[in-house]
Amino acid sequence: MSPAQDHPPAVPPTGRAGATADQAPRALTTDPVATGDAPQVVVVDEAVLTLDLSAPTEALALPDTLVPADQGALIDRLISSYPPKVARKRRRHFQVNEPGAPAPIGANERTVPGIITQRGCCYAGCKGVVLGPITDIVHIVHGPIGCSYYAWMTRRNQARPPEGVANYLQYAFSTDLTEDEIIFGGEKKLAAAIREAHALFHPKAIAVFSTCPVGLIGDDVHAVSRQLRKELGINIFGFSCEGYKGVSQSAGHHIANNGLFTHVVGTEEPDAEPDPTRFRINVLGEYNIGGDAFEIERILERCGIDLVATFSGNTNYGDIARSHTADLNVVMCHRSINYLAEMMETRYGIPWTKVNFIGAEATAKSLRKIARYFGDQALIARVETVIGEELEAIAAERAEIRSRCEGKLAMLYVGGSRAHHYQELFRDIGMPTISAGYEFAHRDDYEGREVIPSIKVDADSRNIEELDVVADPLAYHPRRSPEQLDALARSGLQTRDYVGMMREMAPSALVVDDISHHEMEVLIREYSPAVVCSGIKDKYVIEKMGVPCKQLHNYDYGGPYAGFVGARNFYREIDRLVSANVWKYVTPPWAGESLGAFASGAA
Ligand code: SF4
Repeated sequence: MSPAQDHPPAVPPTGRAGATADQAPRALTTDPVATGDAPQVVVVDEAVLTLDLSAPTEALALPDTLVPADQGALIDRLISSYPPKVARKRRRHFQVNEPGAPAPIGANERTVPGIITQRGCCYAGCKGVVLGPITDIVHIVHGPIGCSYYAWMTRRNQARPPEGVANYLQYAFSTDLTEDEIIFGGEKKLAAAIREAHALFHPKAIAVFSTCPVGLIGDDVHAVSRQLRKELGINIFGFSCEGYKGVSQSAGHHIANNGLFTHVVGTEEPDAEPDPTRFRINVLGEYNIGGDAFEIERILERCGIDLVATFSGNTNYGDIARSHTADLNVVMCHRSINYLAEMMETRYGIPWTKVNFIGAEATAKSLRKIARYFGDQALIARVETVIGEELEAIAAERAEIRSRCEGKLAMLYVGGSRAHHYQELFRDIGMPTISAGYEFAHRDDYEGREVIPSIKVDADSRNIEELDVVADPLAYHPRRSPEQLDALARSGLQTRDYVGMMREMAPSALVVDDISHHEMEVLIREYSPAVVCSGIKDKYVIEKMGVPCKQLHNYDYGGPYAGFVGARNFYREIDRLVSANVWKYVTPPWAGESLGAFASGAA
């Protein structure tokens, strides 16, 4: 069906959807969701209605005794082993944090050759992160078989497809390019692979992902996709996400957003008109690692909030095709999906707000944001009931674990949102974050979206297409008027905003972008953290230093860590890691060797 197909607004701009803070509901209300046939009177705490949900969460202060007096001098020592030109380049990627006024940090810039980075490639961001978890699309990797190694569920995206919806996540589809195709071209092999996949699986859609060699030999995956779409009569679309594009996997996220928006979002209408009395949202930037999305779904269901689509954990093609009918987009991973949130607001009139379901307190705040947006008294009351019950259920264990963990230091170097989100979980159990940074984030993920106009667009970023999006003449209807959004902002609910990581980190904490192995080793020696959260590429280096590492790309074998149950799982995991005695028995293979100037602080 066409995205332009007319359908009545799911939420009219006035009435239920029009309730704003200026018309803020107060005190007593009824809650039909909670009670089914017999609504009960429940009480909304007045203080909840006036909470400033846009204000940055204050970080735990760092103990004076554990922070080097001069963090700036530490940075100088760190980079002093690099050649002068490299040192100058790397210096921009460090900042000593000032949460009230974050200083500009270097981000989304090419890693200096020779430095061992933790970043992934553009294809990994497009296929591996954003598109790959969609269960019923056949994802064909057009390239040598090596590129498909990480296409085979290593991210641990989980799914429970509804009855009748296919799940191809257990498969890895590749065209397995060899020398012949590199010399003579791989388009015929790609067309054959698409036909074969169609004949075997009869999927609703097929996506094709370009790897480095495909870009180098000039195969046109878009032309092949168009041709096969006509021939087979299903949606087939390609991605020019060659690994070398951009500076990291971040480029692949943007390309994936563009492709989903162009080829999938708004291409189907629901069988029945959405019920205007329901609260319908999409969750963007949640990939269901270790079952996180299952826990978020459980909580939303308890609150009486309907999930139209998740981009893209535990989700399917149809959910995303119909996602333009939701009334609010909530954004988890800002870096990987903010493009889609912006484009859906422009074309369909769906506002977005930033949330974080990592951490019990953060989850409570996020649920309150959703309830405040809809402005419905019964929903606000119901959300408070759920928050109260869920926090109560984990309170005793959290307090007990906090008594063992309080004051121990954490370091986090991962992703484009996780290094921020997981600070909330550590905060829940009293562990301050001494240093953190992202692998592939941009300046706005550190400093907040207000800096976007000042970000210099370099050649690598210009390489990624910016779609020219306008309001759809038929499908656009604003769920909130500009005046209503202003009123919401005044009431403490900001839409289209992200404060960034630095405003929610402690003063004097060290922010490091695209950290190298060398820098991480020095910082671990300097800070002696109780735990480091990072990725698979550096996990075992850290553990050989006698420091536990919690891997936050795919959670090792753990999770979920989202929501209230997930928070409790994480508290237990961290307690187990930081309380274990085993780490002091580790003798690093390099024991006795010096890191030179860094270990002694002499440089
Ligand atoms: S960098 Fe290129 S060759 Fe390597 S995995 Fe990514 S797409 Fe494949």
